[in-house]
Amino acid sequence: MAAAFDCDVLICGFGPVGQLLALLLGDLGVKTIALDEAAEPYVLPRAAVVDDEVLRIFQAVDVDKAVLRDAQVQRTVTFVNNRGRKFEVLRPAEGDLGHPPLVSIHQPSMERTMVAAVEERALVDVRWSTRLETIDQGADHVDAWVRPTSGGPAQRLRARYMAACDGGRSFVRRTLEIPFGGSTYSQRWLVVDALVDPALENVPHPHFIGDVKRPTVSLPMSPGRHRWEFMVHPGEDAAPFERLERIRELTAPYIGDESVEFERAVVYTFHVRRAARWRAGRVLLAGDAAHLTPPFVGQGFSSGARDAQNLAWKLDAVLHGAPSRLLDTYETERRPHVKAMQDLAVRWGGVVQTCRPATGVFRDSILAWLERTGALDWIKDRAKPLPTCGAGAFATAPARLPFRRQTGALFPQPDRLDESLGLGWSVVARTDAAATRWRTQGIHAVVRPRDEWLSRRGLEWALLRPDRFVFACGGQGEVGPALAALRASIGPGVRSSAPAVREAVAA
Ligand SMILES: Cc1cc2nc3c(=O)[nH]c(=O)nc-3n(C[C@H](O)[C@H](O)[C@H](O)COP(=O)(O)OP(=O)(O)OC[C@H]3O[C@@H](n4cnc5c(N)ncnc54)[C@H](O)[C@@H]3O)c2cc1C
Repeated sequence: MAAAFDCDVLICGFGPVGQLLALLLGDLGVKTIALDEAAEPYVLPRAAVVDDEVLRIFQAVDVDKAVLRDAQVQRTVTFVNNRGRKFEVLRPAEGDLGHPPLVSIHQPSMERTMVAAVEERALVDVRWSTRLETIDQGADHVDAWVRPTSGGPAQRLRARYMAACDGGRSFVRRTLEIPFGGSTYSQRWLVVDALVDPALENVPHPHFIGDVKRPTVSLPMSPGRHRWEFMVHPGEDAAPFERLERIRELTAPYIGDESVEFERAVVYTFHVRRAARWRAGRVLLAGDAAHLTPPFVGQGFSSGARDAQNLAWKLDAVLHGAPSRLLDTYETERRPHVKAMQDLAVRWGGVVQTCRPATGVFRDSILAWLERTGALDWIKDRAKPLPTCGAGAFATAPARLPFRRQTGALFPQPDRLDESLGLGWSVVARTDAAATRWRTQGIHAVVRPRDEWLSRRGLEWALLRPDRFVFACGGQGEVGPALAALRASIGPGVRSSAPAVREAVAA
């Protein structure tokens, strides 16, 4: 007789990506165990910024306001050239996702917020100080052998699926012998975090300093905190960089009368890597376990957050009877977007890390030219890859060009729209007739007669997946084909009227 399941999904690694996935699964009513070999959330900051896409995911699990309480909105980003001239290189446009586009955070506070929220999810069982030691997959299950880090006997946990959120050195990825390659790019940077009072007057927002002798990044984090990053040249000994006198010397040009207390200084090697595959049977890799991105555009955790959101509803759908091939679309959809973010980080990192004086002169003259011609203004609003998918779980193939996409696009969020959509599948319709048609099919629908996204495209309705990506859209004539596509790709895994799910979980 088959042994009973301990949970539907076992999350190995309870860092920020595991925490967010646990929240999303908990809200969907998925019985989850999350384990971590650490005794508590990591206490030192790593991620410094998150974007509006991530804040929208936080909103879905009701932690956005708490995260924002300890955050700082950034409205501009400056590049300082080798001669000290300043250029505005990013002016994150107030987007249409319902949140500020760039926000400095304090990762430990953000993690504490998520961990506290997970404690309120009755269906999520968190086990700290518990290390995963062995994985064994069967036809319908994954067995994980885990042991308390204090010692004692190993225990077997049986789950239907496992999410490996166990970080860049992922034990799960190594055990499954999944190569972690893609690029040999690696660069060492000294990362210094400090408590500051008041905020540094000289650096009120993120600055990239293109000093060819020592490329530097300086940015305010959450209120009362500041970070510096200093490039360590190949061949330089890292150890002296972590000494207080050296840190004082490097940071002195940025500090006026403010009081500064250094919290930590550590030399990191930044990598660009992607796992060769993100699914092995019933095990799925997410976050740093699947990809590593250098932090120049602040997208490491943010990419992991998108993974968690993409994966959560698909796991829930498959647990409710959707074909298991739906899980393959997780990598199909996420990998190109992760790669686009990595490419952006590498390109921008290349600009910042210029060390040859002649190349620096060339770089600075190009920047000046871009500014003179107005091209920089165009670039600074469009540098970030759009939140769209070129292929995946959609009724029809998304358009080839990202800005043309309808299916495959992330639906905007005017007026905190998501709160009226619930947690599952939903329809935004311009007419009562379209909404009624979908409601009779059991899909929750809201009517927005003047919805801008729909009106601009001449559409009557859009069917949104639980992650708010457009699965299908059209007029009355397109409802039938969209329903057929929904049945074929998701089948009984379609869950709607999600507020009822929240109530069921609470009950
Ligand atoms: C200097 C720096 C700056 C950064 N800046 C940004 C930024 O501005 N914006 C951004 O979005 N990202 C940034 N990042 C990246 C971001 O910090 C990471 O992407 C993010 O922390 C990864 O989260 P994760 O949950 O995938 O992995 P981790 O945070 O590494 O968590 C993995 C967890 O798995 C646990 N674990 C591992 N093995 C086992 C096992 N066998 N059994 C049980 N548990 C296990 C670990 O204890 C750990 O808690 C930055 C990173 C660095 C280093």
